[in-house]
Amino acid sequence: MNPSKIEHIGIAVKNLQESINFYESVLGLKCYGIEEVKDQKARTAFFKLGETKIELLESTDAEGPISKFIEKKGEGIHHIAFAVDNVESALADAKANGVQLIDEEPRKGAEGLSIAFLHPKSTKGVLIEFCEKK
Ligand code: ZN
Repeated sequence: MNPSKIEHIGIAVKNLQESINFYESVLGLKCYGIEEVKDQKARTAFFKLGETKIELLESTDAEGPISKFIEKKGEGIHHIAFAVDNVESALADAKANGVQLIDEEPRKGAEGLSIAFLHPKSTKGVLIEFCEKK
Protein backbone atom coordinates (compact mmCIF):
# COMPACT_ATOMS: atom_id res chain seq x y z
CA MET A 1 0.00 0.00 0.00
CA ASN A 2 3.05 2.22 0.29
CA PRO A 3 1.94 5.05 2.61
CA SER A 4 3.91 8.23 1.86
CA LYS A 5 3.58 10.20 5.10
CA ILE A 6 1.46 10.77 8.16
CA GLU A 7 -1.28 12.92 6.68
CA HIS A 8 -2.66 13.91 10.06
CA ILE A 9 -3.08 12.94 13.68
CA GLY A 10 -6.66 13.05 14.95
CA ILE A 11 -7.17 14.22 18.51
CA ALA A 12 -10.50 13.92 20.32
CA VAL A 13 -11.36 17.00 22.39
CA LYS A 14 -14.32 17.98 24.53
CA ASN A 15 -14.35 21.62 23.50
CA LEU A 16 -13.09 22.66 20.09
CA GLN A 17 -12.69 26.38 20.78
CA GLU A 18 -10.79 25.85 24.04
CA SER A 19 -8.54 23.37 22.28
CA ILE A 20 -7.93 25.73 19.36
CA ASN A 21 -6.94 28.40 21.87
CA PHE A 22 -4.46 25.98 23.45
CA TYR A 23 -2.86 25.02 20.14
CA GLU A 24 -2.65 28.65 19.06
CA SER A 25 -1.57 30.44 22.20
CA VAL A 26 0.54 27.74 23.88
CA LEU A 27 1.92 25.79 20.92
CA GLY A 28 2.02 28.66 18.45
CA LEU A 29 0.13 26.90 15.65
CA LYS A 30 -2.51 28.56 13.51
CA CYS A 31 -5.91 27.00 12.87
CA TYR A 32 -6.55 27.31 9.12
CA GLY A 33 -9.93 25.64 8.85
CA ILE A 34 -12.97 24.43 10.76
CA GLU A 35 -15.29 21.95 9.13
CA GLU A 36 -18.24 19.81 10.14
CA VAL A 37 -17.96 16.18 9.06
CA LYS A 38 -21.51 14.84 9.21
CA ASP A 39 -20.43 11.24 8.62
CA GLN A 40 -18.37 11.26 11.78
CA LYS A 41 -20.75 13.48 13.75
CA ALA A 42 -17.88 15.80 14.50
CA ARG A 43 -16.55 19.28 14.00
CA THR A 44 -12.92 19.41 13.06
CA ALA A 45 -10.23 22.08 13.30
CA PHE A 46 -7.01 21.80 11.31
CA PHE A 47 -3.45 22.94 11.94
CA LYS A 48 -0.46 22.41 9.72
CA LEU A 49 2.92 21.35 11.00
CA GLY A 50 5.34 20.71 8.17
CA GLU A 51 3.76 18.06 5.96
CA THR A 52 1.56 16.75 8.73
CA LYS A 53 -1.66 18.16 10.09
CA ILE A 54 -3.27 18.05 13.49
CA GLU A 55 -7.01 17.40 13.31
CA LEU A 56 -8.94 18.27 16.45
CA LEU A 57 -12.31 16.50 16.66
CA GLU A 58 -15.23 17.65 18.77
CA SER A 59 -18.39 15.58 18.79
CA THR A 60 -21.63 17.14 17.55
CA ASP A 61 -23.70 14.24 18.88
CA ALA A 62 -23.73 12.56 22.31
CA GLU A 63 -24.04 9.20 20.53
CA GLY A 64 -21.30 9.91 18.00
CA PRO A 65 -18.00 8.04 17.83
CA ILE A 66 -15.97 10.91 19.31
CA SER A 67 -18.31 11.20 22.33
CA LYS A 68 -18.05 7.48 22.91
CA PHE A 69 -14.27 7.56 22.59
CA ILE A 70 -13.96 10.39 25.16
CA GLU A 71 -16.37 8.61 27.52
CA LYS A 72 -14.22 5.48 27.43
CA LYS A 73 -10.69 6.88 27.20
CA GLY A 74 -10.86 10.60 27.84
CA GLU A 75 -9.49 13.29 25.54
CA GLY A 76 -6.41 12.41 23.54
CA ILE A 77 -5.04 10.85 20.37
CA HIS A 78 -7.93 9.27 18.48
CA HIS A 79 -6.39 8.12 15.22
CA ILE A 80 -3.38 8.32 12.91
CA ALA A 81 -3.97 8.93 9.22
CA PHE A 82 -1.61 7.59 6.56
CA ALA A 83 -1.54 9.21 3.12
CA VAL A 84 -1.92 6.53 0.44
CA ASP A 85 -2.18 6.73 -3.35
CA ASN A 86 -5.33 4.68 -3.49
CA VAL A 87 -7.63 3.95 -0.56
CA GLU A 88 -9.46 1.07 -2.30
CA SER A 89 -6.28 -0.85 -2.95
CA ALA A 90 -4.88 -0.04 0.53
CA LEU A 91 -8.09 -1.48 2.01
CA ALA A 92 -7.83 -4.56 -0.18
CA ASP A 93 -4.21 -5.09 0.92
CA ALA A 94 -5.13 -4.71 4.59
CA LYS A 95 -8.05 -7.11 4.19
CA ALA A 96 -5.87 -9.65 2.41
CA ASN A 97 -3.59 -9.52 5.45
CA GLY A 98 -6.45 -10.37 7.78
CA VAL A 99 -7.07 -6.85 9.09
CA GLN A 100 -10.60 -6.10 10.21
CA LEU A 101 -11.96 -3.05 8.39
CA ILE A 102 -14.33 -0.44 9.77
CA ASP A 103 -14.98 0.84 6.26
CA GLU A 104 -15.26 -1.68 3.45
CA GLU A 105 -15.51 1.22 1.02
CA PRO A 106 -13.84 4.64 1.08
CA ARG A 107 -16.00 7.53 2.22
CA LYS A 108 -15.71 11.28 2.21
CA GLY A 109 -13.71 12.83 5.03
CA ALA A 110 -12.76 16.40 5.93
CA GLU A 111 -11.06 18.52 3.27
CA GLY A 112 -12.62 16.44 0.49
CA LEU A 113 -10.29 13.51 1.12
CA SER A 114 -11.30 9.96 0.42
CA ILE A 115 -10.86 8.08 3.71
CA ALA A 116 -11.35 4.70 5.38
CA PHE A 117 -10.64 3.30 8.84
CA LEU A 118 -9.10 0.03 10.00
CA HIS A 119 -10.34 -1.55 13.21
CA PRO A 120 -7.96 -0.96 16.16
CA LYS A 121 -8.58 -4.55 17.31
CA SER A 122 -6.46 -5.74 14.42
CA THR A 123 -3.91 -2.91 14.30
CA LYS A 124 -2.28 -3.21 17.72
CA GLY A 125 -4.73 -0.84 19.34
CA VAL A 126 -4.35 2.16 17.01
CA LEU A 127 -7.25 3.43 14.94
CA ILE A 128 -5.62 3.84 11.51
CA GLU A 129 -7.12 5.95 8.75
CA PHE A 130 -6.15 5.86 5.10
CA CYS A 131 -6.40 9.18 3.23
CA GLU A 132 -6.28 9.81 -0.48
CA LYS A 133 -6.25 13.25 -2.02
CA LYS A 134 -8.70 13.18 -4.94
ZN1 ZN B 1 -8.75 11.84 10.38
